[in-house]
Amino acid sequence: MSGRVATCHCGLLQLRCSGDPVKISMCHCRDCQRRTGSLFSVAAFFPREAVAVAAGSAQSFRRPSASGHDVTFHFCADCGSNLWWEPDRMPHLSGVAVGAFADPNFPMPEQAVWCEIAMRGSTCRQRLRRTHAIR
Ligand SMILES: [Zn+2]
Ligand SMILES: [Zn+2]
Repeated sequence: MSGRVATCHCGLLQLRCSGDPVKISMCHCRDCQRRTGSLFSVAAFFPREAVAVAAGSAQSFRRPSASGHDVTFHFCADCGSNLWWEPDRMPHLSGVAVGAFADPNFPMPEQAVWCEIAMRGSTCRQRLRRTHAIR
């Protein structure tokens, strides 16, 4: 089997992603800050059919998003790491937490969203094209 593997903090939950991501995006929204505990999140969007659980089992959490559409988040029941999520707004794509690949050669994000509310001094926001559309 080929593809990249994203792994949770404790290692029990593993996700296999085949092919290359369609898009890699940073998000500076408050929900992502709370979800990750970091200043912003970085998501690699893959076609949903390219993402499959390779080990362990996930629990899910669903909530509305700022776009007005719900998002379902999947996380490890043991350690709580959120490995991937499925936005209703983009029913063909799954977002996968880039940090979970622990791959220093993973491609860099090419876009950033919610830049206008980014943490002041967040360096990446000046480097990326500002856009609100993820296609
Ligand atoms: Zn875990
Ligand atoms: Zn966000």
